[in-house]
Amino acid sequence: MNRLFVALALPDHVRAALSRLRRGFPGARWVAEENFHLTLRFIGAVDNRAMDDIAAQLDRVREPGFDLELDGFGCFETKGRARALWTRVVASDELLHLQRKIDTALDAVGVERETRRFKPHVTLARFKDAPLGPVNDFICEASPFSTGPFPVGSFTLYRSFLHRDGPIYRPEVVYPLDGDAFSDPYFDEFRDEEDYEITDGAALSSH
Ligand code: ATP
Ligand code: MG
Repeated sequence: MNRLFVALALPDHVRAALSRLRRGFPGARWVAEENFHLTLRFIGAVDNRAMDDIAAQLDRVREPGFDLELDGFGCFETKGRARALWTRVVASDELLHLQRKIDTALDAVGVERETRRFKPHVTLARFKDAPLGPVNDFICEASPFSTGPFPVGSFTLYRSFLHRDGPIYRPEVVYPLDGDAFSDPYFDEFRDEEDYEITDGAALSSH
């Protein structure tokens, strides 16, 4: 099975800036620099055939590229415990529009709809079970934070491999948005590759 999600990759300089926010934090699992992304839609585990349908359906999404900006922080919590620390995405109609188009495209191949409302964010760290105090302290210390606007020229269908040491996200297909000339080394490199499986016997964890 293939664990899939659709996301925006972030430019190197943005990921580097996010990585510099990392600090000692009890109970936090920081996202690796290469892994920062903005999830547009989590799909979950599907077989190869469904993956082909999903990839083909996403290929029909034709939307313009746009600028995005990350500014400030937020925290997801449950019952007063921190779950995830993230950077806020400055409101963008183009982003919401793209996300809706992707949702609609995936409806057509029977991917189940996300019940939660789309809250665009870039996760910095996840917590198993942590108090909110240190998270609020972090937010105070690290603020103000802004990446400034950066261009988004594509969205990506990722395959996620969950390992004990953290997930590996492999871009399966990169979909260019309309606008600037597009080039991405992953695009051709990964198209014809055979599936690969984790062979080191690492235990899989769930979200
Ligand atoms: P780990 O699960 O080991 O903490 P991860 O959450 O980064 O790693 P995945 O679980 O494969 O890796 O998730 C990939 C992306 O999809 C992440 O952005 C994650 O937040 C998001 N995601 C995962 N599960 C869900 C879900 N049930 N609903 C919405 N988004 C999800
Ligand atoms: Mg997860």
